[in-house]
Amino acid sequence: MTNAAALVVATYSRRMQLRLPDGGRVDARIKGKRIKPVCGDRVEAEPIPGEVDWLITAVCERRNELTRPNQRGQVEVLAANIDRLLVMAASTPEPEWSIVDRYLCAAELIDASAAVIFNKTDLPASESVDEVLDDYAKIGYQAVRCSAKTGRNLDAVAALLRDGVSIIVGQSGVGKSSLINRLLQDDRQRVAAVSDRSGEGRHTTVNSAMLQLPGGGAVIDSPGVRDYAPALRPEEVVVGYREIAATGHDCRFANCRHLREPGCAVKAAVENEAISKRRYDSYRHLLALTEKLTSKQY
Ligand code: GDP
Ligand code: ZN
Repeated sequence: MTNAAALVVATYSRRMQLRLPDGGRVDARIKGKRIKPVCGDRVEAEPIPGEVDWLITAVCERRNELTRPNQRGQVEVLAANIDRLLVMAASTPEPEWSIVDRYLCAAELIDASAAVIFNKTDLPASESVDEVLDDYAKIGYQAVRCSAKTGRNLDAVAALLRDGVSIIVGQSGVGKSSLINRLLQDDRQRVAAVSDRSGEGRHTTVNSAMLQLPGGGAVIDSPGVRDYAPALRPEEVVVGYREIAATGHDCRFANCRHLREPGCAVKAAVENEAISKRRYDSYRHLLALTEKLTSKQY
């Protein structure tokens, strides 16, 4: 078999594990320095005669990319072809909803679907949580309350993840790893076992892995994805708050930023409570923050 469209399911720096169209898994090297596959990529690959390894010869066009700036200011791709962001908050640490909004904004920008998971329902949460979650549901983001500890509602979370490829994001400590472990059962061990037989005589650590969930669907997990904080530009904030962007079509000015402009449909919607005041304040805050960061670069 040559040039099969294989899927990158694990990366160990420049080594990869591929899932072939027939479901088999093979280890692979990359042809040349210019090709930079990441987890979630579809790639063209072929067996290397006389070797166990396959060779990746090309990366297929990506539907989207999860990126972050690295220390040298270059864009680093963390994962590709993401269908869904699951944004987690929890009873503790105290939820910072503006962070949830920021991830939802990032999901809109890469055209991934998104849902909100509120974890640790076994612990007391602040009173405002229900109202905030209801507001998310009103603008079309499913909001699920669960406990990775007690198992409450994990079937609903598994149902959310059933198709496609998801990533789980959120503040540190909300329970992302705990949730993944509960959902996975034994898949993680299988990935680790494969990394041990890379044939290089040393243990290679997994940079990122696409973990197949027993109930269907897959989650890409990596240190980079776990720390992922979207870098947003002001013009992206304006389109990333979906209810604000939708209402904004009715503003008098096409480039309205919904701050102090006359004829602003968004401000009117906030006043008559069609748009949540909290989301609007979060939007204004993020817009101001990204504008400050952008102007600093000049
Ligand atoms: P991450 O940083 O988002 O990956 O969070 P972790 O999965 O490491 O969890 C952080 C802490 O929260 C750990 O001490 C977990 O045991 C705890 N934790 C995770 N889920 C729950 C839950 O549903 N209820 C409670 N009470 N604790 C949880
Ligand atoms: Zn406006």
